[in-house]
Amino acid sequence: MSANDPFRATRALFDLPEGVIYLDGNSLGALPKGVSARVSEVIANEWGRELIGAWNSAGWVDLPRRVGDRVGRLIGAPEGTVVMGDTLSIKVYQALAAALDLVPQRRVILSDTGNFPTDLYMAEGLIASLGRGHELRVVEPEAVEAAIEENVAAVMLTQVDYRTGRLHDMAALTAKAHAAGALAIWDLAHSAGALPVDVAGAKADFAVGCTYKYLNGGPGAPAFIYVAPHLAESARPALSGWFGHEAPFAFEPAYRPAAGVERMRVGTPPILALAALDAALDVWDGIDMETVRARSIQLGELFIRAVQAAVPGLELASPKGPAARGSQVSFRHADGYAVMQALIAEGVIGDYRAPDIMRFGFTPLYLGEDEVRRGAAILADILTTGRWDTPEFRRRNKVT
Ligand SMILES: *Cc1c(COP(=O)(O)O)cnc(C)c1O
Repeated sequence: MSANDPFRATRALFDLPEGVIYLDGNSLGALPKGVSARVSEVIANEWGRELIGAWNSAGWVDLPRRVGDRVGRLIGAPEGTVVMGDTLSIKVYQALAAALDLVPQRRVILSDTGNFPTDLYMAEGLIASLGRGHELRVVEPEAVEAAIEENVAAVMLTQVDYRTGRLHDMAALTAKAHAAGALAIWDLAHSAGALPVDVAGAKADFAVGCTYKYLNGGPGAPAFIYVAPHLAESARPALSGWFGHEAPFAFEPAYRPAAGVERMRVGTPPILALAALDAALDVWDGIDMETVRARSIQLGELFIRAVQAAVPGLELASPKGPAARGSQVSFRHADGYAVMQALIAEGVIGDYRAPDIMRFGFTPLYLGEDEVRRGAAILADILTTGRWDTPEFRRRNKVT
């Protein structure tokens, strides 16, 4: 790293255990140093001293919208079009329900096999609740474009495949969806904070994502939802909770949706989690996503080259060209779980996704070339010596 390297400064903003090479920021981002102090302060001074008054005095009530604007800046969403809350699964449900309601004469939800299971599960559950004969059509990622036909109501995709890192062309597929009269819903779970995203430029109708991956908001951090401004006043919230009401404190017996994206709020916002996320987002101040992308590609390529030079037989599960990948690299190995446990035991943390994927995430804000080189060397050494093959490393934990 050179002296004017912007990532020298961001690395210092993170609290990482000594000696650990963290290649799992795509699953749970590292802890920004400012988070603990901020959360403590909210607990002690706002909750502790101001009690219920803090909803007004500390601005708690507007936090989902204010933090939403900060996330919005990272995904190309104009001010006032993103709101925070709940989990990503819930936000997927809300976006899909609203989309299906906006295209009532069509019955097909198009997705792909690279989508994260919960997105597909939520679609299944919604279809059953609606009881209107919708069909979830799941095709191979390469077949999505051709499958966008006149009967499709919504194209629901995750931009970056959680297993392989394969990247969809959001603008092109959205344009294709619109040309066919369908709406486009994008899950940005592995995109926000990983690469430049422009939801407005790509004309996405809805976008959702979580904030505990590349945005470092902490385990279970609240998710975000973006609704395109031209749809925000007509989108009907399926989860019509009181915080998405036009006047929650009028306590009216009937629901009236709030203006714009605020209608996608549901219940009382998780203030402590939002405070943690708000503090975590400080690390992005002044950071240019194009610079992050360039470094992420450099780190990913370095890792692939180093691993493949030492273990030529190991199969790359990710697209070969960096332009077709998000910010992760995956390799296939039949005993990927045990290999990953051996790697973790030696301080190199990645993760495993069934049935045979070893995933490695690249997070330039707190990960440098030296660590990537060392991580690759340790992986290569574990594979060549076979020291991963023990009963202990094969024993499965609940979370892989
Ligand atoms: C991580 C991830 C999720 C997780 O959903 P939660 O409700 O936050 O548990 C959902 N979808 C995708 C595409 C993901 O990558």
